[in-house]
Amino acid sequence: MEGVREKELRERLLRPILRELRDGAKDQVVVGGLEGLIQNLARPFPELLTLFQGYGAKTPEERLPVLEAALRLLEDGAPPRLPQAQERPRPGKLSPQDPAHLLVPPQGRKKLAELGLRTVRDVLHHYPRRYEDRRALPGVRYLEEGQKATLSVRVLSKELVKTPKKGMQLVQVRAQDAWGWRLTLVWFNQPWVLAQIAEGATLIVTGRVQRRGGVQLWVEHFEDEGTESLSTGRIVPIYPAKEGVGQAFLRRTVHRALEAALPLPDPLGAYREEEGLPEYTEALRAIHFPEDEEALKRALLRLKFDEYLLLELKALLDAGGMVLGRAFRVEKAWVEAFKRALPFPLTGAQERVMAEIAKDMQSPRQMARLLQGDVGSGKTVVAAFALYLAARNGAQGALMAPTEILAQQHYGNLTRYLFPLGVRVELLLGSMSQREKEAAMARLLSGEAQVAVGTHALIQEGVGFRDLGLAVVDEEHRFGVLQRRALLKMAQVPPDVLVMSATPIPRSLALTLYGDLEVSVLDEMPPGRIPVKTKVLPHRLRLQAYAFAREEVRKGHQVFVVAPAIEESEELELKAATALYEELKGLLPEVRMALLHGRMPAREKDGVMEAFRQGAFDLLVSTTVIEVGVDIPRATLMVVENAERFGLAQLHQLRGRVGRGGLPGYAILIAGEAGQKTLRRLRVLEESADGFYIAEMDLKLRGPGELRGTRQSGYPELRLGDLAEDTEVIEGARALAKRILEMDPDLSLPQHQALKDELRAQAERIGFREVI
Ligand code: ADP
Ligand code: MG
Repeated sequence: MEGVREKELRERLLRPILRELRDGAKDQVVVGGLEGLIQNLARPFPELLTLFQGYGAKTPEERLPVLEAALRLLEDGAPPRLPQAQERPRPGKLSPQDPAHLLVPPQGRKKLAELGLRTVRDVLHHYPRRYEDRRALPGVRYLEEGQKATLSVRVLSKELVKTPKKGMQLVQVRAQDAWGWRLTLVWFNQPWVLAQIAEGATLIVTGRVQRRGGVQLWVEHFEDEGTESLSTGRIVPIYPAKEGVGQAFLRRTVHRALEAALPLPDPLGAYREEEGLPEYTEALRAIHFPEDEEALKRALLRLKFDEYLLLELKALLDAGGMVLGRAFRVEKAWVEAFKRALPFPLTGAQERVMAEIAKDMQSPRQMARLLQGDVGSGKTVVAAFALYLAARNGAQGALMAPTEILAQQHYGNLTRYLFPLGVRVELLLGSMSQREKEAAMARLLSGEAQVAVGTHALIQEGVGFRDLGLAVVDEEHRFGVLQRRALLKMAQVPPDVLVMSATPIPRSLALTLYGDLEVSVLDEMPPGRIPVKTKVLPHRLRLQAYAFAREEVRKGHQVFVVAPAIEESEELELKAATALYEELKGLLPEVRMALLHGRMPAREKDGVMEAFRQGAFDLLVSTTVIEVGVDIPRATLMVVENAERFGLAQLHQLRGRVGRGGLPGYAILIAGEAGQKTLRRLRVLEESADGFYIAEMDLKLRGPGELRGTRQSGYPELRLGDLAEDTEVIEGARALAKRILEMDPDLSLPQHQALKDELRAQAERIGFREVI
């Protein structure tokens, strides 16, 4: 009897105290002051009486700890029922930047610190990892033998039982469900559980049902339910946690944060409705404590959108916003002339991308475009087109490549495309003689040459342009930001920028990783290219690969063998490559071989590559340094050892090195560790030749962290976003980010204030990549 009255009383006290908190502790909730009310009602709670002494005379700041303490006191007994969302359009009491420890009792501070939750905002954005549907937990009566079940039960008694055989220790707990049906919970050999369970406590237990004699549940997982209403009878959030930080604590804390901080101004403001997204406040509430699946889905969509929007805004802002560059003229006749001079018709993809580039170049805004395309998809032609347009405008262009061989290759191709059109291309390499270099530099400075192709030599002391209008950077990931900047600095007006990459990455990743670049994709191969025939071999059959290699060499073809990649240790990698090299020499004594590895100086590497290209030997054992797009026309076979250590996209790029000279190409992928999953993953390459499909599969199978180049580049940590699925959301967020910044380049308009605040608050969390 006493129990019920006390519970009722707690509820009656809690309500005004919660309201007082929300109102900012102004002591206006109760006529005559809160202290009076407490004195009247709280006689069974002497601590409360003491707490509230002199309450009316205190400042709101001084009142806060009183209220917090009172809440703890009252809640430790019976938790309050939570008011429904609609009841509370009141001004928030805590703001997002307030310290998170205001939400928890003193002993909870350490837990917050452990999870890195410093502010109320951090808590609001500590999103659940997953959810459990506990809207209708089954009763004991309906449990079936062998079934796995989750239920809510109250503990009646507990004991530790030692079985005679083998000294097994069982924790046995008698418990009953809400309908009074009883069961026994059993833990095997976890005696410590006994101390964690209190008689009378309510537990959420998950386990396997055994119906022998009475009903038993062999417990696999359990939670001590702190607050009934947060952990049962609803879809329950399961948070990322750490040892010693329980789910009940997190639920309580997040719930307090929602109570104390909501409603919040919507960072999207009026854009929200245009985007058809739910309100911020509603979404925050629903992401933690969803009413149903539909509400959760909408909340997720909304908060993902925010996440991507902030990411895109940050990328654009860090890149200097939407910079004004130069507006080139594009005449139809020039485009026609360029096409006529080519020895082949363009692919549809090339036409499309060239139109995109022409449009960018015409715009007064600086072009910042990423051109992605598989090896051999014809990027160089597209680059030549852009360079040609610049030249027709009386400006100059520069193409920077990561290695001398590549620069030379580009030089050859660009000359072939552009010379007939009257455009002079200049090569600039570190290895050229001083005299050659000076002559080339003079022609660039005077404007006699319109295009420069080179390595880092392009940005060395003494190089200058008359009027640099377009910068093309090949194999972008090889260059640091500084080098790219140095190239751009050589222009008076910000030049248009085209970045070329042969690493196919999924669009979603491209859009987030290169938030400030527009992305063009050459997703169509020129006709006549035969896909590289690919075979996955389990390790025990690996010698077959070298038997095949011997045959290819006999036909006068050349072979690449890629040694196992060993992360974090060039030394081990070199060792592995050397061992493989020695093994193959023994295996194929008649074959002329060379070894290429990451420890060699760049000059030496280029030398080996050049010798290989000229046919000085037949087989090249190499660590992954051969990724970059060197053409070896007679190379027909690529063998990759321990192929499972590579991403699919990377393997795809590797195999693109063979079969480039009209001869059929082959790739043999040796799976060092031949689990079914590994083999299945690698077999994607047997089946597909589409770099983007492969990259998507890679993303799905391994996650973004594994994609090449993303780990080092400060890949953004997404809380809700899932790059394998979110392409559309990202596109929407990106379009909005651009619209916003076009109107308000530094987010200074009042309607963007909330967005700016959010951005500022989250900036340190959002990793990003600087590109230009
Ligand atoms: P990428 O730089 O994307 O690897 P390239 O521009 O070097 O590709 O082109 C690969 C090869 O395909 C080159 O020999 C080029 O001449 C040829 N090529 C490019 N575009 C076409 C096309 N539309 N039709 C036929 N061949 C093409
Ligand atoms: Mg190329």
